[in-house]
Amino acid sequence: DIKNVNNDYFGAYSSFGIHREMLSDKVRMDAYGQAILKNPSLLKSAVVMDVGCGTGILSLFAAQAGASKVIAIEASEKMASVATRIAKDNGLLSSKSPGESTNHGTGVVEVVQGMVEELDKFILIEPHSVDVLLSEWMGYCLLYEAMLSSVLYARDQWLKPGGAMLPDTATIFVAGFGKGATSLPFWENVYGFNMSSVGKELVEGAAQIPIVDTVDGHGLVTNAAVLQSFDLVTMKPDEVDFTASVELEPNFSSAASSLTDLESETTWCFGVVLWFETGFTSRFCKETPAVLSTSPYTPKTHWQQTILTFKEPIAVTSGKSSVDGSAAVGTEACPAARIHLRISIARASHHRDIDISLEAAGV
Ligand code: SAH
Repeated sequence: DIKNVNNDYFGAYSSFGIHREMLSDKVRMDAYGQAILKNPSLLKSAVVMDVGCGTGILSLFAAQAGASKVIAIEASEKMASVATRIAKDNGLLSSKSPGESTNHGTGVVEVVQGMVEELDKFILIEPHSVDVLLSEWMGYCLLYEAMLSSVLYARDQWLKPGGAMLPDTATIFVAGFGKGATSLPFWENVYGFNMSSVGKELVEGAAQIPIVDTVDGHGLVTNAAVLQSFDLVTMKPDEVDFTASVELEPNFSSAASSLTDLESETTWCFGVVLWFETGFTSRFCKETPAVLSTSPYTPKTHWQQTILTFKEPIAVTSGKSSVDGSAAVGTEACPAARIHLRISIARASHHRDIDISLEAAGV
């Protein structure tokens, strides 16, 4: 039931731990901080809407950057009252803030408690009156939690034509990982004993469900490819669900792949890692564009990466060897030159979850 799912979801956001985790994520904070605080021509005197304000941190940045009004929307009752208190304690709460009877505020931040989809019930905001639509809506694998739909709803209701979105782009990347990124090496030798049956069981079990964990760039055995890019300004709400195909090419050094046969430069790809970047591009951030990356190659974030394990690993060759194309590909005898992937991500019905489907074949 939708209502219960939402109760659980907004209930989770009432715990301070998750907010502390987000506020401590330096990569996240630096990207938003730079976009909001270092683009004065965008923020100065702007009317800003912050979708899902949590503690209100991004709204506070916007107020600091000189916004004339910041509408901070938060569905969780607890967090809305926390954001109100924090804005007030920092002298940034507006006296117009709904529910703010004691006229203490002198600032520009108005905290509104409610789902952005139901905002009309709580406050009247002129349609298409917002200059800057701000939100930190990203979930694991970008789309888990399905909050992007809420941001697009706010965009279509309140953003001015030509108004700015922060961030304004989002890109999902994919790359293949090798044995080194699995738990196989650990279980192969435990104080000299072979416990590899445990590693095998873990890798086989992982094929059922995506796992959120940190993957090191060294564990990747293919190039990284763009799976899907979103332009948040122009995308249609139903484009949140997508199917995309890409081909990955082997790209590994012998050191990175413990199963590499040095003669033929062959290794096994056990599955793929997904991650995302959001852009605060020069389209709106003219002075200081910014990128928030959750890549395995850059400092880690609380989003980590999302790992999808194949049912069976695929042997790939880096192309140094001459592969006889007529033979069966993808087998140990004749490794594939590329991996063809087809990935769909869709919101699960009546749920904040997402369904991910993955097809992979050596070609
Ligand atoms: N902006 C804050 C919090 C980000 S977490 C920060 O950057 O630290 C996302 C927040 O959005 C959560 O607090 C969640 O309760 C809220 N939220 C999610 N969907 C929402 C919706 N449809 N309407 C209003 N708030 C929402």
